[in-house]
Amino acid sequence: MAMKSKVLIVGGTGYLGKRLVKASLAQGHETYVLHREEIGVDIEKVQMLLSFKQQGAHLVTGSLNDHQSLVKVVKLVDVVICAISGVHIRSHQILLQLKLVDAIKEAGNVKRFLPSEFGTDPARMENAMEPGRVTFDDKMVVRRAIEEAGIPFTYISANCFAGYFLGGLCQPGFILPSREQVRLLGDGNQKAIYVDEDDIATYSIKTIDDPRTLNKTVYIRPPQNILSQREVVQIWEKLIGKELLKSSISEQEFLAIMKEQDYAEQVGLTHYYHVCYEGCLANFEIGDGAEEASKLYPEVKYTTVEEYMTRYL
Ligand code: NDP
Repeated sequence: MAMKSKVLIVGGTGYLGKRLVKASLAQGHETYVLHREEIGVDIEKVQMLLSFKQQGAHLVTGSLNDHQSLVKVVKLVDVVICAISGVHIRSHQILLQLKLVDAIKEAGNVKRFLPSEFGTDPARMENAMEPGRVTFDDKMVVRRAIEEAGIPFTYISANCFAGYFLGGLCQPGFILPSREQVRLLGDGNQKAIYVDEDDIATYSIKTIDDPRTLNKTVYIRPPQNILSQREVVQIWEKLIGKELLKSSISEQEFLAIMKEQDYAEQVGLTHYYHVCYEGCLANFEIGDGAEEASKLYPEVKYTTVEEYMTRYL
């Protein structure tokens, strides 16, 4: 049997990153997690890193601001996965990855790089609205740098993180579902795709030693999780045994409200607009040159929307 790749996770203390560390260890990879010097005395992060160590990961010290330190850690592994932040209401550091790309280029040993993507495929968003398009534009800048440097890659398009979208019944600004009411975005009938964050990590790690995913985009589309907002609400109503009071917000209203928000909020709302009013995640077929994760890895028992939502009961 072929040896499993050694993996370096950058951004391992993040919302998705910590799940990538867990999945990498669970799938038997020797796993390295970057301990950035800048986290200083952030006790929560340091404790999390130590817990990874207890679970068998190696902590390696380096900094995105210190090229040689990065080259050194990159040389220890075969695969680099970056989960650096990219949600404006939290933190958005996508372009910092250009430093990592430089280090991977110089190290010259990396067989696969998964940059911090894990959302809407930025290559399909060239007509996205301001200001939210910055997320897609920055991710495309990173893609171009990877491809110009000739670094082997896989891009993971993970669609909607379940915690954000199911938690809030697809309403921006909510991450816990109401038992009383819901506001539908438009008619609530556009399909989107919801993926448990742990499943995103599991599928992502599955791709790293897979020749079928080399230099390709992998979309995660668990078939049972391709649902409209109305269908998500129905599942919740079934779970709580009660119908919610429904109102609706038109496209025009949504855009008008968006304009009054601060920049970070507007970025997030732009993304909800493309997903919930335009259906940008599910309105295309996966073509040649791309793959779909649940087809590649049918052995993964993914979490359905209903299973995910039971945690809110
Ligand atoms: P987080 O906000 O949790 O941050 C992840 C990591 O970013 C941190 O742990 C930290 O790493 C690193 N980081 C933050 N600031 C800096 C800095 N100044 N310098 C270096 N590193 C820094 O990220 P998420 O898990 O929310 O996002 C990961 C990816 O997932 C992004 O690409 C994002 O766009 C995407 N996403 C997609 C969603 C969807 O619904 N499809 C929803 C949310 C995110 P360290 O441990 O080194 O401190």
